[in-house]
Amino acid sequence: MREQLELLIELQKTESAAGRIIARKRELPVRMNGREEEFKACCAAVEKEKEKLEALRKNRREKDAHLQKGQESLKRSRERLFEVKTNKEYQSILKEIETFEEKNSRMEDEIISLLDELDQLEASVKKKEEELDSHRLRYEGEKKQMTEELGALAGELESCLSKSADLKKAIPADILRKYEQIKNSGRGVAVVSVWKEVCYGCHMSIPPQLYNQLQKSQTLITCPNCSRIIYWEHRDA
Ligand SMILES: [Zn+2]
Repeated sequence: MREQLELLIELQKTESAAGRIIARKRELPVRMNGREEEFKACCAAVEKEKEKLEALRKNRREKDAHLQKGQESLKRSRERLFEVKTNKEYQSILKEIETFEEKNSRMEDEIISLLDELDQLEASVKKKEEELDSHRLRYEGEKKQMTEELGALAGELESCLSKSADLKKAIPADILRKYEQIKNSGRGVAVVSVWKEVCYGCHMSIPPQLYNQLQKSQTLITCPNCSRIIYWEHRDA
C-alpha cells in the first residue's frame, strides 16, 4: 500500500505542477499585453508632444516671415520719405511708418514669448524621449524574458503530462478512479499531507487514533472532513 500511496503522492505533485504551469501560461500573455499597452500609450504621449512642438515651430516660422515682411514694408516707407513732394504726403508716410513700427514691435514680442514656450517644450520633449528610451529597454527586456519563459513552460508541461501518464499506468485502476473522483469533485487536490493531526487539504484536525493509523500507513486513508486521500508527512513548520 505504501508504494501505491507514493505513486499517488507523486501523481498529485506532478498534476499540481502541471496546473501551475498551465496557469502561468495563461497569465504570461495577459501580462505581456498589459506591458505592450503601457508602452504604446507612452509612445503615443511622446508623439503627441512632438506634434505640439512641430506646430509651435511652424508658428514661429510664420511669425518670423511676417516680421520680415513688416520690416521690408517699414524700410520701403522710410525710403519713400525722401521722395515726397508735399507736407501732407510726408505726414501720411510718417503715420504709416509709425503703424509699421508698432506692428513689428508687437510681432517681436509675440516671437519672444513663443521662443520661451519653444524652449520649455523642447526640454520637455527631450526628457520624455529619454524616459521613453528607458521604458523601451525595460519593456523589451521583459518581453524577451516572458517569451523565453513561455517557451520553457511548453517543454515543462510536456514532461509533466508524460510523467502523469506513466504514473497513471502504474497505479491500480480502482485507486486511480478514486483519485480522479476526488480531484473532479471540485476539491481540486486529491492527495494531501497531514502533520500534527492537521489535514493540509481542509486545515481541520483528524482524530488522534486515525493519525496514529496514518503514520503506520497500512491502508489508503481519507480525511473524515474533506474525503481527500491523506498521508503523513513530517513538516518543520
Ligand atoms: Zn481534510
